Amino acid sequence: MVITLSDNEREATWRKEVRSFIDSEAPAALKAAGDEGGENSLFGRLGAIKEWREKVAAKGWIAPSWPKRFGGADMTVAEQFIMNEEFAESGVPGNLGGFGVMMIGPTIIEHGTEEQKEEHLTKILKGEVIWCQGYSEPGAGSDLASLQTRAVRDGDDYVINGQKIWTTGAQFADMMYMLVRTDPDAPKHRGITYLLVNMKAPGVTVRPLTMLSGAQGFNEVFFEDVRVPVKNRIGEENRGWYVGTTTLDFERSSIGSAIGVRKQLESIIRQAKSGGEASFSRNPNVKREFADRWIEAEVAKMLSYRVVSMQVRGQIPNHEASMCKLFSSEMSQRIANLSMHLFGMHGNVRNRASNGYMQAVSSTIAGGTTEVQKGIIATRGLGLPRG
Ligand SMILES: Cc1cc2nc3c(=O)[nH]c(=O)nc-3n(C[C@H](O)[C@H](O)[C@H](O)COP(=O)(O)OP(=O)(O)OC[C@H]3O[C@@H](n4cnc5c(N)ncnc54)[C@H](O)[C@@H]3O)c2cc1C
Repeated sequence: MVITLSDNEREATWRKEVRSFIDSEAPAALKAAGDEGGENSLFGRLGAIKEWREKVAAKGWIAPSWPKRFGGADMTVAEQFIMNEEFAESGVPGNLGGFGVMMIGPTIIEHGTEEQKEEHLTKILKGEVIWCQGYSEPGAGSDLASLQTRAVRDGDDYVINGQKIWTTGAQFADMMYMLVRTDPDAPKHRGITYLLVNMKAPGVTVRPLTMLSGAQGFNEVFFEDVRVPVKNRIGEENRGWYVGTTTLDFERSSIGSAIGVRKQLESIIRQAKSGGEASFSRNPNVKREFADRWIEAEVAKMLSYRVVSMQVRGQIPNHEASMCKLFSSEMSQRIANLSMHLFGMHGNVRNRASNGYMQAVSSTIAGGTTEVQKGIIATRGLGLPRG
């Protein structure tokens, strides 16, 4: 049994519209492969993903939370949630706007000048410019405000020296939005500035990092006397920390990943039932593990429902969103583990189980580590003292 929340009349109509859009427009290659996941199948489907992105953009849904006057869909949180839920249930990719729509677009809308809005927003919506996020550094991840990459004002430019790391997609990106230190003497949150940098500018060097799975998803990016015009600064100098925390009222339930892991589990169960190297008969003990994972998948969905129902009531989820992230990411690792158990020795050769296993490692690091989420839940959720 799969649990769902009941929709009111308007929500039910909206859900129907989303569903019929997916049915009529989503490329068959995506619907068929939807729950198969894994980077190999992803790269095999890049053409179909591009086609799907164009259709979603033409429908006007690429930036669900942006206001209409900037080309967004101005959806309510409930509408965004339903759309994300339906995309995930159908196995078609959501969040197609990437960093551009999710991160830098809302920041420019909120803090950018008219010239910056004019220059960047349409290109983000059309997917003409690929953005990457330059926040983390070798010595600044969880404690991001301790970042050290320096920008020094020189006439109409800033001159940047330093290094970023774990920069997803930097090798393909045209632009980076980044945080730099402009006042080393100020308290750490107050000496940071937010800049937009052309990735082709002289002095920018991108070095891809090979992940455990063999893929090259992220990079080191080096800056040597890179000149960035002052007009590329978002907000005031030394106020970048506050600019960087901007988001529009977007849906924070992680429903896509909660459903994604359940579908992954369903896919593993199908394989196990179909016999062969991953059959139940070879691995009778894994049945109980399947039961545990299935229950967890339902719990993950309930945690997502809790977050979105808070947002719909105008509340801002905090430790509740951390609970979602923590639970879903750790669950995805348990499911990857189960998949490896099921395949036994075959799991050690490079197949979907081993790919998924290696990729799942990063889920408890990206977007805030497990320990950091636990800290938030302990202090803000349970009211325990810091430290
Ligand atoms: C797949 C992936 C994609 C990423 N993409 C990007 C990107 O595009 N741009 C970007 O800027 N960054 C990106 N990152 C970096 C990511 O934001 C950082 O890895 C993350 O913030 C953790 O920082 P760190 O790696 O420096 O680890 P650290 O912060 O050094 O943590 C090391 C260990 O110490 C623990 N720890 C740290 N602080 C505490 C604390 N207060 N309490 C308890 N334990 C603590 C951590 O949980 C962890 O186990 C990406 C990371 C991954 C895995």
